[in-house]
Amino acid sequence: MRVLLVEDDPLLGEGIQTSLRLAAIAADWLQDGVAALAALRAGGFDVAILDLGLPRLDGLSVIRAARSESISTPLLVLTARDRVSDRVQALDLGADDYLCKPFDPSELLARLRALHRRHSGQVQTIVGREPLLLDPTNFSVRWHGRPVDLPRREFALLRALLEQEGRIVSRDALQQKLYGWDEDVTGNSLEVHVHHLRRKFDPALIRTVRGVGYSLILPADAA
Ligand code: CA
Repeated sequence: MRVLLVEDDPLLGEGIQTSLRLAAIAADWLQDGVAALAALRAGGFDVAILDLGLPRLDGLSVIRAARSESISTPLLVLTARDRVSDRVQALDLGADDYLCKPFDPSELLARLRALHRRHSGQVQTIVGREPLLLDPTNFSVRWHGRPVDLPRREFALLRALLEQEGRIVSRDALQQKLYGWDEDVTGNSLEVHVHHLRRKFDPALIRTVRGVGYSLILPADAA
């Protein structure tokens, strides 16, 4: 999952970005409304977390502008404004969810998962199907019924491929799911993660599509 975080409080922004990354979520952090709107226009985010009191362009104006331009990215408002009228206004302008500060990071993560499920049309919380099942709520993976431990980037990569099972996912799209803007990406790291996944599961699980990207093929379809 890739999340856009818009928060002008440096301590809070840094804290949220860290907790997102620990949860295998690629997080890009911006601190003003104009930059946020530009990033939403550029696209590529599964969910955006939006503060309301922001420099240059306030959060409500960002929501209004994004929706008037038919930008469909799910928007979660994260703010200290806790009046009912504030919540109603933000939701009616096009926000999808609203969480008041102070908040518990575990609730923020659960709401992000819920928004991502709803937006991608998933009903179940488990991603995949037998023999490969992945649970984003606790980062657990089961392969033919056995648990497999994965570092967070391998988990994020496997999830991105599994959500598009049988389809080709471009290298760019995968990089986006794995790394935030300011995270160091060495040239072959995507290949290295793919290599590790093939070793832990099955060499045939992930196919390389030369010059394009990768495709995850579950064994039942591999004939
Ligand atoms: Ca603020």
